[in-house]
Amino acid sequence: MNLFNNVLKQLKLAADVIKFDQSKFKLLSYPQRIIELNLPLKKDDGKIEIFKGYRVQYNNWLGPYKGGLRFHEKVDMDEVAGLAFLMMIKNAIVNVPFGGGKGGIQLDPKKLTEKELERVTREFTRQLKLNIGPTVDIPAPDVNTNSKIMDWIADEYGSQAVVTGKSINNGGSQVREEATGLGGFFILEQLVNRLSLKKPLTVAIQGFGNVGSNIARILYKNGYRVVAVSDVKGAIYDYEHAGFNIDLVKKCKEEKGFLSGCYCIGSVCDMASKYKDGIITNDQLLELPVDILIPAALENVVTKKNAARFKSKIIFEMANGPVNIDADKILKEKGILVVPDVLANSGGVTVSYFEWFQNMNNESWSKEKVEGKLKEKMESAFEEVWKIHKKEKVSLRIAAYILALKRLTKMAELKF
Ligand code: NAD
Repeated sequence: MNLFNNVLKQLKLAADVIKFDQSKFKLLSYPQRIIELNLPLKKDDGKIEIFKGYRVQYNNWLGPYKGGLRFHEKVDMDEVAGLAFLMMIKNAIVNVPFGGGKGGIQLDPKKLTEKELERVTREFTRQLKLNIGPTVDIPAPDVNTNSKIMDWIADEYGSQAVVTGKSINNGGSQVREEATGLGGFFILEQLVNRLSLKKPLTVAIQGFGNVGSNIARILYKNGYRVVAVSDVKGAIYDYEHAGFNIDLVKKCKEEKGFLSGCYCIGSVCDMASKYKDGIITNDQLLELPVDILIPAALENVVTKKNAARFKSKIIFEMANGPVNIDADKILKEKGILVVPDVLANSGGVTVSYFEWFQNMNNESWSKEKVEGKLKEKMESAFEEVWKIHKKEKVSLRIAAYILALKRLTKMAELKF
């Protein structure tokens, strides 16, 4: 099942619980606009290649479309639509004045030079120019994109507020780099308190890019035992469960990683283990007997094929869409609690909102101010989802979708 169909089915489950109006549900079942682009790139050797570019502007009832840009060879319209839909839900949950959007280019950035990557990013921006803007649609980083790429977009478009996740010198916000990981930490702490779990808790993390490496570091600094981490090439696992020193793991990754372009620094580089603790596969990592499993790479990694083998107590979705609807059922039967992406990873878009707000109002907030406001937003989103989870006796995912539906409904009433 593709991501879009999967998330739509999840929304339907939530809609059924609250007997949501069927015609309003229909309105939320289709993206408002889909844009497909053919992007010519003149390679360094003079040859021309064409890449597919996408932007899905799913829904703007709550404000301008907002969502990341993914550079990956598997990007396609279904994936982008599913991710744009998730942004609509997430922005409603965290209560920021944005709608949902997402985009991407179907390419493997490791196969391009930095100059080529810049040229194709600028071409994408030029072709989208009439459809994006600070009050229309505001992209941000996602898989394989970073502040340097966001800076190119801002420069090509001619405005800082058109994009978030920029470098600090170029209108970026304090804390945006680690925002998704930090927001996840604030949510996880709420959960740990609610469930009265005893620390230290063991954690396995799939994906060691922006999201995975930042949450790994923050959890390590706050007394969690991060016993396994992975990137696309495989995982390292500390069998004794003492937990890795994540600063050392990061350093190792930087030394051994393939830094084939600047986009890659601290992001998509591969790690070769110099630890004796063991090298395992990504599939093995997912099935480890840990307290908390954090998928932080790509979608659809927990399905009916493998869900029955999972042994963690909690699955905390830092990636978008890692657990599909069939797996949700199996995990529930096994008593594994799933914290949904739309809540767990909403710290990124929250600080993106702060960045956009600062740009629009010519302000520059301190690190402490951004962290404090992020904590407040995360705790309040958690609280609201938790209340529905208890009241309606539904999973945290369905509770989160119900909250989003309620906020979106109000706008549907105004618009139709
Ligand atoms: P990234 O490009 O910085 O890192 C991706 C990581 O996943 C890398 O370590 C890569 O090696 C690993 N990876 C890729 N394919 C893999 C595979 N098949 N198996 C195992 N590992 C694999 O990307 P990111 O920004 O950290 O995003 C990760 C996830 O978090 C995505 O689902 C993204 O949509 C989501 N997310 C990102 C943000 C953000 O602010 N960057 C915000 C919310 C959600």
